[in-house]
Parts: sequence; structure tokens; C-alpha cells
Amino acid sequence: MARTKRTRDAVPLRRSCGAMAVHMSLLEQFPAFRARQFQLEQETARRRTREVNLAKLKLATIKVIVHVVHRVPAENISLAQIKSQFKVLNRDYAATNPDRAGVPAPWKGLVTDSRVRFKLAKVTRTPTTKTSFTWDDGVKKTSTGGIPSEQPDKYLNLWVGALGGGLLGYAQFPGGPASTDGVVIHYRAFGTSGTAQAPFNKGRTATHEIGHYLNLRHIWGDTEDCSGSDNVADTPNCAGPNYGAPTFPTITCNNGPNGDMFMNYMDYVDDAAMFMFTAQQVLRMRATIDGPRANLVT
Ligand SMILES: [Zn+2]
Repeated sequence: MARTKRTRDAVPLRRSCGAMAVHMSLLEQFPAFRARQFQLEQETARRRTREVNLAKLKLATIKVIVHVVHRVPAENISLAQIKSQFKVLNRDYAATNPDRAGVPAPWKGLVTDSRVRFKLAKVTRTPTTKTSFTWDDGVKKTSTGGIPSEQPDKYLNLWVGALGGGLLGYAQFPGGPASTDGVVIHYRAFGTSGTAQAPFNKGRTATHEIGHYLNLRHIWGDTEDCSGSDNVADTPNCAGPNYGAPTFPTITCNNGPNGDMFMNYMDYVDDAAMFMFTAQQVLRMRATIDGPRANLVT
């Protein structure tokens, strides 16, 4: 039987995101970031206590600059592949993705249009001698083979290149240092065509990482027990990340009968197995868009 040959730059077998590692490192380095995160958390909590009509949210369009950083021709991904990613983002953030039909009945009512949309403003293309990058932000500096961000207060800067160490992507939470602000995605986990590789070829790595960029946490709260929280009330408490394509219900942390909301974009399942944000996650993202990321929106 033929076995799938995995080349050196193939995508990892299971999802891994560097956002929390970056986040912890930046919080240590920048006390002001910690203070801004605290303030945003308080503002988000205040909103939770108010009646917010999520159906009447203003449309918020975020302009995006895509930085393609390439060593070999395959890494210099096509404009068509970039556009395929935007199609996914605009469906996922509008909750018009066809696979939302797979949301289990008890949670169907939670699926929410964030009223956030994405517009490709510009593509830059930068040759590099680097074989791969990691979450140390090397891709964001010329001196380390990358390209600096451009007006990160006005644009979501999104780097696409080869990532090593099993990473599919990472993002910076709101309120952090401007020069590194943005999202980084593995070129084999970007868009739905070209170099995108199963099981991460449905554009969901960017959906997940932009969730972090808009202040969403992983649904298990980033502890490998039941103590962590994503500070979102309508995602059930759960133990740790789910991988692959789990079966409903998957029960942890006494969260029966429905169990983990593993089909949430902020879990670690395969692209085809994640298809929803909840109402409270949308509220959290919108607090960010009205707060530290207000300048992004025109
Ligand atoms: Zn993540």
C-alpha cells in the first residue's frame, strides 16, 4: 500500500499554534502590554453584563497586507491562493460557511455572524535565504530574512512563509508592540488551493489565528486540566486541545451531555472539523475592534 510521503516542509500531522508562547514571552518583556490586556479584559467583561444586540453590529472591514516570504518557488504562492484564503475568512466570520450545518443541535443557536470582514489591500513578495521561520518573529525583520510590518495600526499584517518546529501559525494579541503586530501562517496551511495541504487546506489556520489577533483564547483555556478558561461563557469548560476530527459528544471536565465544543475555530482540530464562533466569542472580538484595534476599521 502506498504511504503518503511527507516532505521536510510538509505540514505537521496535527495542529499546533504558537500564539500562547508568543503571548507569554511578550507579557514578560512589555509591562505596558500586560496593562493594556488587563484593561481590554475589563472592558470585555463590562460588555458582557450589558445587552448587546449582536444582530445589529456595524459591519467592520479589516484591510489586510499579505507578506509572502519565499526561498523556493513553491513558497511564492499565487494571488489566486491568497484570494482563496479571503473567501474562507469572509465566510467563516460571517457564519455563512456551508459546513456550519455540522454544528450539533444544542449549539446551533450560538453560531454568530461577527460582522467582521476582510479585504486584501496589498501583497508584498520578499525573497529570503531562510529555510524556515518560527515564532520568534524573524519573519518580521529584514535582518533575519523577513520583511517588517507596514502601518500595523491601520492594516492587519499577515506573513505567509515556511514555518518549522511543527507550527502552523501564530498571532499577536491586541495591545502588544506595534512592530511585531499581526499574524503568521505556514504557506502549506494557507488558503484552499496551490500549496495548501490536507488536513489544513481549508483556510482555517488563518481563521483561528485571526481569532487570537482579535483577543480570542483557545477554548480549553491553555491549561492541560480543567482549571483554565477562555473567558467566554458559552464555550463549555474542557480539559485540553482536541485533534483530528473528534466524534460528538467528547466529554471532559464533567461537561456532559454535550461535552467539548471541539468544532469551534479556537480548538486544535483539523480544518474540516472546525466551523463555528459563538455569540460570546463575537462579543469579545468586537470589544477589541471597538478598543485597541479601532484604527483598523474604516
Ligand atoms: Zn491558537
